[in-house]
Amino acid sequence: MNIAIVGLGLIGGSIGLRLKLKAESLKLKVIGIPRRDETIEQAKERGAIDEGSLNISSVSDSDIVFICTPINLIIPKLKEIIPHLKKGAIVTDVGSSKSEIVKEAQILMPKGTYFVGGHPMAGKEKVKLEAAEADLFQGAAWILTQTSKTSKKALETLQNLISDMGADVLVLDPKLHDLTVAGISHMPLALAVALVNTVSEAKEGKDEMLKCASSGFRDTTRVASGDPELGVDIFVTNKKAVLSQIKAFKSSLSNLEKVIKEGNSEQISALMKKAKEVRDSIYGQS
Ligand code: NAP
Repeated sequence: MNIAIVGLGLIGGSIGLRLKLKAESLKLKVIGIPRRDETIEQAKERGAIDEGSLNISSVSDSDIVFICTPINLIIPKLKEIIPHLKKGAIVTDVGSSKSEIVKEAQILMPKGTYFVGGHPMAGKEKVKLEAAEADLFQGAAWILTQTSKTSKKALETLQNLISDMGADVLVLDPKLHDLTVAGISHMPLALAVALVNTVSEAKEGKDEMLKCASSGFRDTTRVASGDPELGVDIFVTNKKAVLSQIKAFKSSLSNLEKVIKEGNSEQISALMKKAKEVRDSIYGQS
């Protein structure tokens, strides 16, 4: 099987590194298509690709194409790729929002070629190829989207390949994907940004707060150190779902504000216990 990876940053590079570990047993050849010559050299040195090319027509032999560019470039890249795809080729992406991408991609794909939206639920604050890791996806969820237009065979092929990469595949409708990631990925980013900015804009005690900030503040705000450009793309392309979660969060925070104002220890405790129970059920007591 020939695999192309368009965009060799954190996610594209990690896909390459992982696939290359499996290349022999799965009989895979991995071609990387970044935008700079240096990236091809670097990806070869790191063992993330077999071959590299700056020419998008190099996807022409590929059975599967992963588009791993910033979100706003996924559809433009797909448009460039389409004229070169062979019959039966499957294209997937890794963009953090899905409804718009999947809707447009399904309109664009020519007969006999297939698009299945994807999103690995793994990442870190550092981006670019230097940060890529072969085991980034180990044990992580990887969402693939399914609509009435999705080819079952293409979905199954990707499910098998991604499972071989160590991830747990979850198949979701694109809208449910967007709501899901708004709740557990995009909202933590929104809150981390708002929390850090609240402290940095404090009229009183700002210096002391920043000096005293310890592990609690660090853990709660870790994602605010991520790539600002990715944050912009996320909030612009998943606006509807994020706004609905912000509304729900405001109501939850107002409820907490109310019971704190009332000095209602019983209610405060009930809210704390409820949150602890849910969080512990996901992560244990860590
Ligand atoms: P990244 O490390 O910045 O990688 C993006 C890559 O795309 C870079 O290597 C960049 O090239 C390349 N690129 C930019 N414009 C290009 C073009 N015109 N042609 C070819 N390549 C181009 O970002 P990332 O974190 O891997 O994110 C990539 C995608 O993964 C995004 O859609 C994001 O939503 C998704 N995602 C990210 C995370 C995360 O935690 N970071 C998690 C899940 C999904 P240069 O190296 O030359 O700049």
